[in-house]
Amino acid sequence: SAEAALREAKKSSRKSFFFYNNELHQKLLMRLNTENELQSALYNHQFVLYYQPQVDACSGTLIGVEALVRWKHPERGIVPPSGFISVAEETGMIRDIGWWVLDEACRQMKKWQERGPLKVPISVNLSFNQFHDDSLVKRVCFALEASGLQPEYLELEITESTMAEDLERSIRRLKEIRALGVGVSLDDFGTGYSSLSYLKSLPINQLKIDRSFVLDIAQSNQDQAIVTAIVSMAEHLWIDVIVEGIETKEQLRAIESCRCRAIQGYYYSRPLAENDFSDKYLA
Ligand code: C2E
Ligand code: MG
Ligand code: MG
Ligand code: MG
Repeated sequence: SAEAALREAKKSSRKSFFFYNNELHQKLLMRLNTENELQSALYNHQFVLYYQPQVDACSGTLIGVEALVRWKHPERGIVPPSGFISVAEETGMIRDIGWWVLDEACRQMKKWQERGPLKVPISVNLSFNQFHDDSLVKRVCFALEASGLQPEYLELEITESTMAEDLERSIRRLKEIRALGVGVSLDDFGTGYSSLSYLKSLPINQLKIDRSFVLDIAQSNQDQAIVTAIVSMAEHLWIDVIVEGIETKEQLRAIESCRCRAIQGYYYSRPLAENDFSDKYLA
């Protein structure tokens, strides 16, 4: 990959020509370019949030919103996270971007709540770097205070891999977050290596079943069995379950037969720009 090439090149600039070819060279330049542009993107207000509704499939009501960052690039247009998050993570810039996301999401939700009845939490994704940053709790408090948003309307999404390295430390961190009254959701659930037994020790509110279980769920008895098992296990642990990546009616039917009601996916809505979200849910 281009990143591997860059690492090699940094390690030994003399050897790097070994696997240089034109295509790699182009990728490398693109990456360096992205890195440079990212530096100024925050300062130039080029990040925006999109908002994807989370819905109760039975009643059709809104139960939450996930904030998803986009880079409004002056030439490249709207760049999704896949186009910059890995570079931002490697360079550490993800932290500043992430803190901006946290502030902005809280500010926006409070603004919406002042306009109309929107009594659902907004979910913010936390990177590994943010979750383990000693200033996390302070930052969350600040975001809540600055916006005036009540803590019950904020939910932080973290992945299993974020906690894998040091589970005890992560549990302490989760408890600090929960003590603020803020929710925690375990994102991309089922894609990590972790055993299920650790779930009972995690102070989380919600599991987000990963899209990979949904892709073939309409045809796959195995996937249905897995999702059903996750749902009933979560029920016994008093943890909510939501499924992400529902695109079709068939997937929705299959998921409902697994007794899962909370849904996020293109079938209901793609992530929406601020105005589109307001038009749809605050009209
Ligand atoms: P995620 O947190 O698992 O977010 C869900 C992703 O799945 C989003 O992609 C969303 O647009 C997409 N999605 C939702 N429903 C469907 C569907 O029905 N079909 C398909 N194919 N995709 C669906 P997005 O916005 O491109 O974000 C990708 C990932 O980037 C996120 O995955 C999250 O890990 C990361 N990310 C996004 N925003 C932030 C952020 O503010 N901070 C951090 N640290 N990471 C972020
Ligand atoms: Mg929720
Ligand atoms: Mg997420
Ligand atoms: Mg996810």
